Amino acid sequence: MMIAQVVVDLPSGLVNKSFDYKVPDSLKHSILPGMRVVVPFGPRKLQGFVTQIVLDTDVEKLKEIQEVLDPVPVLTEELLLLGQWLSDHTLSFYITVFQAMLPAAMKASYSKSFVLAKEPAEDFPLASLYSNRSEVTLDEVIQEHPQMLAVFQQQARAGVIDVIYKVKDQAVKKKKKYVTLKADMKAAEEFAENLPARSKKQKDVLMNLVLIPFQELQELVRNTGANSAAVAALEKKGLVTIEEREVYRDPFAGREERKTEPLELTDLQQQAILPIINAMEKNSHETVLLHGVTGSGKTEIYLQSIDKALQEGNEAIVLVPEIALTPQMVTRFKGRFGSKVAVLHSGLSKGEKYDEWRKILRKEVTVVVGARSAVFAPFENLGLIIIDEEHETSYKQDDNPRYHARDVAIWRGQHHSCPVILGSATPSLESYARAQKGVYTLSSLTKRVMMQELPPVEITDMRNELHEGNRSMFSRRLMEEMNSRLERGEQIVLFLNRRGYSSFVLCRDCGYAVTCPHCDISLTYHKKGQQLKCHYCGHEEYMPSNCPSCSSEHIRYFGTGTQKVEEELAKLLPEARVIRMDVDTTRRKGSHEKLLTAFGNEEADILLGTQMIAKGLDFPKVTLVGVLAADSMLHLPDFRASEKTFQLLTQVSGRAGRDVLPGKVVIQTYDCSHYSIQCASEHDYLTFYNREMLTRRSMQYPPYYFLSMMTVSSPDLLKVVEVSEKAAEYLQSKLNTSSIILGPVASPIARLKDRYRYQVMVKYKNEPDLRLYIREILNHFQRDIAQTQLQIAVDMNVQNVM
Ligand code: ADP
Ligand code: ZN
Ligand code: ZN
Repeated sequence: MMIAQVVVDLPSGLVNKSFDYKVPDSLKHSILPGMRVVVPFGPRKLQGFVTQIVLDTDVEKLKEIQEVLDPVPVLTEELLLLGQWLSDHTLSFYITVFQAMLPAAMKASYSKSFVLAKEPAEDFPLASLYSNRSEVTLDEVIQEHPQMLAVFQQQARAGVIDVIYKVKDQAVKKKKKYVTLKADMKAAEEFAENLPARSKKQKDVLMNLVLIPFQELQELVRNTGANSAAVAALEKKGLVTIEEREVYRDPFAGREERKTEPLELTDLQQQAILPIINAMEKNSHETVLLHGVTGSGKTEIYLQSIDKALQEGNEAIVLVPEIALTPQMVTRFKGRFGSKVAVLHSGLSKGEKYDEWRKILRKEVTVVVGARSAVFAPFENLGLIIIDEEHETSYKQDDNPRYHARDVAIWRGQHHSCPVILGSATPSLESYARAQKGVYTLSSLTKRVMMQELPPVEITDMRNELHEGNRSMFSRRLMEEMNSRLERGEQIVLFLNRRGYSSFVLCRDCGYAVTCPHCDISLTYHKKGQQLKCHYCGHEEYMPSNCPSCSSEHIRYFGTGTQKVEEELAKLLPEARVIRMDVDTTRRKGSHEKLLTAFGNEEADILLGTQMIAKGLDFPKVTLVGVLAADSMLHLPDFRASEKTFQLLTQVSGRAGRDVLPGKVVIQTYDCSHYSIQCASEHDYLTFYNREMLTRRSMQYPPYYFLSMMTVSSPDLLKVVEVSEKAAEYLQSKLNTSSIILGPVASPIARLKDRYRYQVMVKYKNEPDLRLYIREILNHFQRDIAQTQLQIAVDMNVQNVM
């Protein structure tokens, strides 16, 4: 007997294993591990993944696989193995991990409906609804007849109607119709001649097909001014055929990239690429940390390493942080490798992502450039994985499965015996420390390619400015520099860190700050529409005209958002043309690209923006970069605050003077002596690294210690306190005395979406069984989690403590 082991689509600790199903004879020859199937589960039907085919089982009453959804496996053998490891490593459910590896379109959607089970009696209360059909969907009942729901349930209990569950595959392939001329040309022409005058449209279509005998239906209709009825008439007469073919949704259609050739590497680049090439030639795994200052030619090294991998018949994955995945970035890869490149990023629609992904599965491309989840690209001959800007925290997923793309990349690198490149101008402390210990190989590029100097950085002390009577948000120095750029017709980038700078509303009489009623978070003021919004849950309300607490009229918004900077610029530099880039101006698809193109075409003098302008932009005319509040993120309650500040300042500074015109950077701060700001202004990574490592050691933080966190949440505060205390006690009783347990304490965001949150943090050097203990805790509270609204989130490698 053939048995399929299936992981079902039910993310719960109670069913986090595979279940045995009988493979019916009809599916024996088509079913393989890694395929999606539909299986009965209790009264329901669920989607699932086949993890293994075996011949034996202990289960006595086996149910049968109902349907196979894929013609070929969507999870390769490697990905099935990786899924196993990742699920253990991150303490996530198998199903959650498998789903994270695939495009969202492949997740099943479920529906429920009520069908007649037998001939209803005379007084059947739902007779009118079933008058001309035998099935009513639950959706319809809920939306149109909610008061009838109880009747449906009662009739179901009485056995008059049955409840049926359906699984729908959302992965829909896009199809287009194509027309082929079947008759030979002569016959077609003759036929066209003899058509009566009223069939002019058919005639036009035929004559057009004589010229181009194979066309997309839509296009043919457009070209001839005919309609599809005319084409259908010709099909009936046997002159043409119409067929449907599957097509890819191509977000880059019509965009022709100019082909680029490999550049001759500089001596420094040649040295830096050597360990990568060597590893490929030896077919061995090696993680290379490519530490190169901005503009040092890291991307060219990526391109030539990929080229090498492709020449050996292998494939390559390039990960780029979501916000750096700009059209400029994509162009560099498509320019070198053309149609061999697939691009995966969140700007694509579900369908577009699915199509790009299928190009990978079908081996129609050999390079994928994408954000975090592209690390799961189903290549089978991987020759190289690159993680650009490896220090970016967005490589760590904030939801289950809480994986870090770097760990996955290294796992796959080991599996395929191929190198992994981690590239950055400001490597994470973790990676640099590993390179120093010899776990990774360090490759350094200390100079910019054309030997342009890194731009001089000037720090201005905003406390002094205030002292000397300057109340504006720009220092006198920055104003001077801006004015001179405007006179010379050069461009300026102004950077404002979004975090810690959103404008919140405060009463100046009583100090009341307007917060979200569902989350412990200040609402953010949006000038447009005079609205207050919660950035966590989306709650919106109008700006009050009086203080809700003391009724004072002196309620106003504080803080300097990008909108406010824009207003101030309009006042102080009215002649300057400004482009603002932040979450508000880039919400619509394509707007990001539009704004950048406009700036590149010099339609503006100043580009003002948040994080999203910090990376990857390369505009030759930019000669001044201003940072408005360098220390705004320095004081966040996050042990990585200094590191993040240093990284951000270095990135932003790298935007100036990338071409022949020399650049300059002005950093405004209230804390000019801080080493993050000092080191960034001197472009001195190593001094920063050494200084920050001292702090990490004395404070017992990564990379000296591992950091894991458990967050307990529920609408019931007492439950949260009780569960988190028990969990902390249990860990205390099991862990080494040298490990440190912090908490339970309320999380930095103590309430989110109406749920109270408590956390327990564990700092440790060596706890080989920690995962086991946490599993035990999760198992212990299994019932509460399944039956109440209790949640326990586990993060085995905390990146973001906020
Ligand atoms: P990074 O990725 O390290 O910031 P880039 O790869 O963007 O640096 O390189 C900076 C600039 O130098 C780019 O315009 C690139 O085309 C150019 N460049 C890189 N390598 C070479 C080379 N070997 N010869 C000439 N120009 C190069
Ligand atoms: Zn008040
Ligand atoms: Zn909220």
